[in-house]
Amino acid sequence: MSSFNVLVVEDEDAIRSMLVMVLEQAGFKAMAAQDTQAAAVALDECVPDLILLDWMLPGISGVEWARRLKKEPVYQDIPIILLTARGEEEDKVRGLEVGADDYMTKPFSPKELVARIRAVLRRTSKIQGDGSITLGDLVLDSEQHRLSIGDKQLDVSPTEFRLMQFFMTHPDKVFNRTQLLDQVWGRSVYIEERTVDVHIRRLRKILGEYGREDLVQTVRGFGYRFSLLDLGSTVDVT
Ligand code: CA
Repeated sequence: MSSFNVLVVEDEDAIRSMLVMVLEQAGFKAMAAQDTQAAAVALDECVPDLILLDWMLPGISGVEWARRLKKEPVYQDIPIILLTARGEEEDKVRGLEVGADDYMTKPFSPKELVARIRAVLRRTSKIQGDGSITLGDLVLDSEQHRLSIGDKQLDVSPTEFRLMQFFMTHPDKVFNRTQLLDQVWGRSVYIEERTVDVHIRRLRKILGEYGREDLVQTVRGFGYRFSLLDLGSTVDVT
């Protein structure tokens, strides 16, 4: 479970830094924003696997922003944990009503936070307790770094493995080359966008040996999508 990206939205500097530190120590990648405006910019750059969202923020509140995100097709599947200093049952109900996946009352222990994040990730995605991801007959084992279709193990490079890991945790969504570079290679490395195409081609070739090259789909003029579904006319398998 080590490469999950968590976006922290919290206006209090000390708490924000503490949350980032706790997340990084637990093996997550953390991005931080001090309000929903900065969080929206962060979302544009990278779609996180989970958002830790403070309820009380200057400007648009956390609960209002959660409500908006849950209406946006691109973002509605990102799990949200609302953080609040308010412990009333009524607030909890309201938080869950706007679509938050969990709700935590401050103060909480780092251990509890990490446990709740893992629980939400497990519940809302295909991540199994042992760190593997299963989608149809595809199994990706994060601990052993193995990818298989049925009982056949695929011979993928570390980069292609990470690409598949990202795709399998974000199925049916379209990502452009910049987003894939940021997510799979990391933003600190300078790599040309066509590198993405090269790896996608290799990945398709490997999947093609099992008749599954259609899993990685080209969305013309935009980028790529991983899907077990045949999404029809926009698909251009090259
Ligand atoms: Ca606050």
